[in-house]
Amino acid sequence: LEIEHLVMARVSIPGGRISSEQYLALNQIANDLGNSTLRLTTRQGIQFHFVTKQDVRELLSRINETLLTTWGGCGDVIRNVTACPNVEDPRVKTVVERVANEISNRYKAPSDAYFEFWIDGEKVAESISGAKTQERSIYRANMLPRKFKIGVVSSIDNCIDVLSHDLGIVVDNENSQIIRLYVGGGLGRSGTDESTFARLGDLLGEIDIESLFAFTDAIIELQRDLGDRNDRAHARLKYLIARIGVDEFRRLVEEKVDIRFQPAEKDLFLATNDHLGLTRNKFNNSYALGIKLPSGRIADTAPINHRTAISTIVQRYRPNLAVTAKGDLILTDLASEIAPNLQDDLEALGVPSLKRQKPIFVSSFACVALPTCGLALAESERYLPTFLGQLQDRLELLGIGDDDIEVRMTGCPNGCARPYLAEIGIVGRTKKSYDIFLGSDREGTRLNQLFAEDVEKESIVDSLAPLLIAWRDERKESERFGDFIYRLERSRLTAYVPAPRRQ
Ligand code: SF4
Repeated sequence: LEIEHLVMARVSIPGGRISSEQYLALNQIANDLGNSTLRLTTRQGIQFHFVTKQDVRELLSRINETLLTTWGGCGDVIRNVTACPNVEDPRVKTVVERVANEISNRYKAPSDAYFEFWIDGEKVAESISGAKTQERSIYRANMLPRKFKIGVVSSIDNCIDVLSHDLGIVVDNENSQIIRLYVGGGLGRSGTDESTFARLGDLLGEIDIESLFAFTDAIIELQRDLGDRNDRAHARLKYLIARIGVDEFRRLVEEKVDIRFQPAEKDLFLATNDHLGLTRNKFNNSYALGIKLPSGRIADTAPINHRTAISTIVQRYRPNLAVTAKGDLILTDLASEIAPNLQDDLEALGVPSLKRQKPIFVSSFACVALPTCGLALAESERYLPTFLGQLQDRLELLGIGDDDIEVRMTGCPNGCARPYLAEIGIVGRTKKSYDIFLGSDREGTRLNQLFAEDVEKESIVDSLAPLLIAWRDERKESERFGDFIYRLERSRLTAYVPAPRRQ
């Protein structure tokens, strides 16, 4: 029974931005409670794992003392709002951060029970954090049919995979008062229900920023009222859009708001920035240093003591910090005098710079899966390093060991690490086998496709080898692996599919 008394707690952080004081406080909490690690998530939140039931109250109180919260980190509500964590242009940055924060506050679930139950037990007379009373809130009495994800980016950097959100908000980089809205994205599938699917958002059109919240209210209300409440597997907005069509959904939104969308072209996101390494902001000459973490885990695990190293650096230089949508950490707003020292200091503390790591290790990440996630069918975070080591060995053998391919692995088809938007997506199927998806672009605008089902984990690299050889020999200049696969004729790709595994 004791195992049932362990919980995970998730801090929701709009846009992933926190102060050094907040980071150090969370680090101290991780030191005292749970399994001594911080887990940065692909929705820019921070998780504590293996917290005992008796420590939950202390954990939540101490998180709240940092002015952060776990409220709204889960449930059929607007989840943690993701946003590009380090927009370069200050005009666009202001808009992206303001929109993410205002949406986060505007759609907080209207309940005071959280504070009464977990913080001090006192009856709270008025609602907190600007949340409205239940009757007046957008959620009404029944909340939403399912979770609802919103992301905000600038039109030149799709680092959060904005099209994978129920509602994607794109701020035009040339004119930050113009917004494009996308609806109906979502990557979760069920391995046992073929009527479920991964989907990218459809473009609704362009609007002025003044009317943004009228539109977001209308979109959420439509999902609240028309989303499927009979079947949770089909309750996300993407199924409503697939059912009635994006044109009809656009008409319903316009009818509610009484404003027409301006027609627009889909965003191309010509650059997608991982925000890793040392970068200089040309607008204000500040620096940022993105630290690659193993699938978002900040732990003291030999040979690299990330937790000690990062807390030492944060104590010494007091930077602002931001969690990326790949679960990495950026130290931001660094003065030009300290930025280079900071990288040297990190190396001295054992954290290797990017140039000491092979590209596939820098680009790839995995969801948590076993032993933490109750839905996991297979290993993911714990298996990814082994898999990448095998893949790297094969790339070296083929003479392409310094080439970059992005691998995203999950322990089940729910897709928390967004594997359907990876050049190679490895999705857990059973304890011993995975499905392989291939062919996304690196800009987050094209889903990959199922290549092979139920492949034993020891055979995944062998299954990929003929395609890696073809890519090495036939690619166009600078052509990425995912783009090459997408260009390959279907019949040729099918010929490479491995034989089904013996049960
Ligand atoms: Fe768990 Fe599946 Fe999400 Fe991985 S993808 S964290 S296994 S629900």
